[in-house]
Amino acid sequence: MRFVDEFRDPEAIGRARDEIRRLADPKRHYRIMEVCGGHTHAIFRFGLKDLLPDNVELIHGPGCPVCVLPMGRIDDGLAVARQPGVIFAAFGDMMRVPGAHGSPLEHKARGLDVRIVYSPLDALKLARNNPDRHVMFFAIGFETTAPSTALTIMRARAEGITNFSVFCNHVTIIPPIKAILDSPDMRLDGFLGPGHVSTVIGCEPYEWIASREGLPIVVSGFEPLDLLQSLVMLLRQLQAGTARVENQYARVVPWEGNRAALGAMAEVFELRPFFEWRGLGFISQSALRLREEYATWDTERRFEVPGVRVTDPKAAQCGEVLKGVLKPSQCKLFGRECTPEHPVGALMVSSEGSCAAYHNYEHRKQAAREASLV
Ligand code: SF4
Repeated sequence: MRFVDEFRDPEAIGRARDEIRRLADPKRHYRIMEVCGGHTHAIFRFGLKDLLPDNVELIHGPGCPVCVLPMGRIDDGLAVARQPGVIFAAFGDMMRVPGAHGSPLEHKARGLDVRIVYSPLDALKLARNNPDRHVMFFAIGFETTAPSTALTIMRARAEGITNFSVFCNHVTIIPPIKAILDSPDMRLDGFLGPGHVSTVIGCEPYEWIASREGLPIVVSGFEPLDLLQSLVMLLRQLQAGTARVENQYARVVPWEGNRAALGAMAEVFELRPFFEWRGLGFISQSALRLREEYATWDTERRFEVPGVRVTDPKAAQCGEVLKGVLKPSQCKLFGRECTPEHPVGALMVSSEGSCAAYHNYEHRKQAAREASLV
């Protein structure tokens, strides 16, 4: 298959692996953060970690939108869903994410009207088909998904559909990267830049990472060869002592971004002064809310939202994992109290969560290895 087979070619992968080993200075330890949860999963799914020399360490970043959402926002959304006539609509990824009193799916089992949708337009269709109900779409995601939410809100306005609103949890990628770089306990040598988000925002917003922080960043695709090539590009820069933004994923990511998508976002959304991130605390101008002109479709303006603040269970170390301070398997609950079947934190639920990636690939691989030794 075009754009897949050539990026999984064993010989090309072997050459990239050898080049990484050649470029990695044995006297150095490289800490490279992959910002995107999709990259984390690809790295484990394709066993890429096993191809890297020990001194090239991959640090998993905060690029999983479900994982960084604090528990209180889920409880806030469910509080609105408890109001008469409300249908709670969200992507499947959200359904098993625990709130303080259970996940949306558990609330559905208790009688709440919770529906899975595959796009914001599905939620709008639900509103169109249920004129006597109110459909609240629990919107989540980085700049990757925010444009489709914006376009749906514009469609609702154009069609005059007012029994529909958006509980907006869209976040932006640059502020958490800044927060991580500002954290005193974090030392990084470079970044694998997020592939999906960059299809919308392009590469220019990362320039400051190179110019101000002196760190190279390579926007990467998701196939094995994409990621290995990106590491080669990073290591070449590090060997040469340069720091630039490079675009390995140019077949998909335009350098200047997607102007139509950015335009839709600018039309509907504005930056919130502050938004809470799991593990990173409150970060200024890091999330989106609806502009005043779209207040009719803003759940937070139309309903009483309690503004719940809940701390994660004491033993859960989701925050440290999200900041890249701990590896998932170093969390005290990993694989014991917290598993994909019984998740304690969102990182174990989401398809982009690093704990789920470790559990589904590394942990099971290790368990199989141990079983074969018995
Ligand atoms: S193992 Fe569970 S509790 Fe621990 S960091 Fe991961 S999701 Fe959070």
